[in-house]
Amino acid sequence: MAKRDYYEILGVERGASEAELKKAYRRLAMKYHPDRNPDDKDAEEKFKEANEAYEVLSDASKRSAYDQYGHAGVDPQMGAGGGAGFGGANFSDIFGDVFSDFFGGGGGRGGSRGGAQRGSDLRYTLELDLEEAVRGTTVTIRVPTLVGCKTCDGTGAKKGTSPVTCTTCGGIGQVRMQQGFFSVQQTCPRCHGSGKMITDPCGSCHGQGRVEESKTLSVKVPAGVDTGDRIRLSGEGEAGAHGGPAGDLYVVVNVREHAIFQRDGKHLYCEVPISIVDAALGGELEVPTLDGRVKLKIPEGTQTGKLFRLRGKGVAPVRGGAAGDLMCRVAVETPVNLNKRQRELLEEFRKSLQGDDSHSPKASGWFEGVKRFFGDV
Ligand SMILES: [Zn+2]
Ligand SMILES: [Zn+2]
Repeated sequence: MAKRDYYEILGVERGASEAELKKAYRRLAMKYHPDRNPDDKDAEEKFKEANEAYEVLSDASKRSAYDQYGHAGVDPQMGAGGGAGFGGANFSDIFGDVFSDFFGGGGGRGGSRGGAQRGSDLRYTLELDLEEAVRGTTVTIRVPTLVGCKTCDGTGAKKGTSPVTCTTCGGIGQVRMQQGFFSVQQTCPRCHGSGKMITDPCGSCHGQGRVEESKTLSVKVPAGVDTGDRIRLSGEGEAGAHGGPAGDLYVVVNVREHAIFQRDGKHLYCEVPISIVDAALGGELEVPTLDGRVKLKIPEGTQTGKLFRLRGKGVAPVRGGAAGDLMCRVAVETPVNLNKRQRELLEEFRKSLQGDDSHSPKASGWFEGVKRFFGDV
């Protein structure tokens, strides 16, 4: 069978840069990788073909031999080009970074020398009332997590025994797997990269060195936190594997809706209903704040929607700075359930308004607008 051109296999120009070659190879390798195409002979062939093409073209001296002499320049069977190198450093390098995203990653490479792996970070959603978020609080939370096994001190080996050197990888943690005529370096399947083997596993953790446990933590929540703020508890995540450091715990704040106040950053908003009489004549109201009630003067002629700002009655931001304000929005309330006397008074009041629209600043402006709209000014 005649061999296909290496550039053609990778789908690149003859002058392709190293980066272009790598990119093209990654694309093909991901597409045809045997783990993603089980029992597919055609995909396997294509995978091998792409590997071979990349192996040659990514090596400057092999590439120039190939450019000059074609397959004869690099084919190991022809004895030229020093064909010892399939599965060399280049290949396993790219293998690592191409596939770490796809095959569990989990620290299979990089930082896994000796098998120590950092534990996972955990996330915990903490529901708070607005008052707690504004003032700060200390809460006790229970977090399900993996902690180091106390029986074996995290080694995974039964008390009195200790892990022995892995016989599969000889303690290196990596093995070379034969794939066709390529060899690929992989994490040792027996010791999972730790280089150690447990012959007599600890009964409490079944050799894992970690056990599931619910741990209770006290979390200090600073004053002023808001929904989405995160509190990092360093080292309170999952225990690391094989003696690796623990991950972190992120406590993510979620502030519940409040019956009276809406929060927007450091400002608070609330709606205050006032009677039609207070609105017309002016008056004094009691309005709620987070520190208790305060008096608010309403001037005469106050309309619905008017905002009254109470400076500093909002929230002091967690990152510092001046406290925000409390904005009270007035809503004039229409009286209901009127008795006869009240109706009479209002009827009389209505008569007193007739023919004088200076008492209704909004309505007169509004009617003017309507007139203009219909063109019947
Ligand atoms: Zn144990
Ligand atoms: Zn091993």
